[in-house]
Amino acid sequence: MPVAVPVHVLVLGGTTEARRLAESLVGDPRVRVTTSLAGRVAAPRLPPGDVRVGGFGGADGLADWIRAQGVDALVDATHPFAATMSRNAALAAAQAHVPLLALRRPGWVAQDGDRWHFAASLAEAAELLPTLGERVFLTTGRMGLAAFAELNSLWFLVRSVDAPEPPCPARMEVLLDRGPFAREGERELIRRHRLDVLVTKDSGGEATAPKLTAAREAGIPVVVVRRPPVPEGVPVAATPEAAVEWVVRELYADGSGTSG
Ligand code: NAP
Repeated sequence: MPVAVPVHVLVLGGTTEARRLAESLVGDPRVRVTTSLAGRVAAPRLPPGDVRVGGFGGADGLADWIRAQGVDALVDATHPFAATMSRNAALAAAQAHVPLLALRRPGWVAQDGDRWHFAASLAEAAELLPTLGERVFLTTGRMGLAAFAELNSLWFLVRSVDAPEPPCPARMEVLLDRGPFAREGERELIRRHRLDVLVTKDSGGEATAPKLTAAREAGIPVVVVRRPPVPEGVPVAATPEAAVEWVVRELYADGSGTSG
């Protein structure tokens, strides 16, 4: 069956890359783009095109939504650590018979002078911390702070977009802020708060990378939480531009604006 134009692309969002993808697709008259946001952030930066907010109700709910809204292709452009949504996307795409692409910015790469310690999870990062420092710069987001809640001998500077909810570490200061962050500011935070260890997810991207440079320059160790894998069989694009190419290839394979 040929796909009618405009084709409907559903972008699972919540990242800079998802917004950039929507910005690129919205200018193409052959495409209708809807971005879906989880609704975790109180005042999100909205992409152009249609936006919907809130969960779908698991993989089945997403598959229903795809069918009901006539979605022709799905791009999972969620954060590399949004593993549940990525798993649901893979299941729903298979159920609803739509092509799926994962848009994932590459992870960070250690450089000379970096003192990185890898952890498989937030819990493993919390286990490592007491061996590495006492004053922690915690940048893993407001969700999952429970993993650090028992570390009473450590002090935390917790940076997040919205305020965290308990359980949280007993000794902490919260810094509400949203990237991009500059190296100078990161350096100043480390100095002013006498931070001696940084904890980060391997989120990748430039917006939050200056903390890694600042940590290297200050000579402090970094606990890097490794990414969960992309669901098996799902193709991956590293940039919004590559994702646009995929959309065009998938939906306009015959070059006529329809595909069979
Ligand atoms: P998650 O654990 O993978 O997903 C939990 C549930 O949230 C999903 O099952 C789904 O609910 C809903 N959900 C997640 N992303 C959604 C989206 N784009 N649209 C509609 N519903 C969505 O996700 P998370 O780690 O809580 O992240 C939530 C959102 O924040 C994601 O969109 C992600 O891109 C963004 N984000 C996450 C991180 C992080 O470190 N995890 C960092 C920055 C931004 P239903 O099952 O009801 O559909």
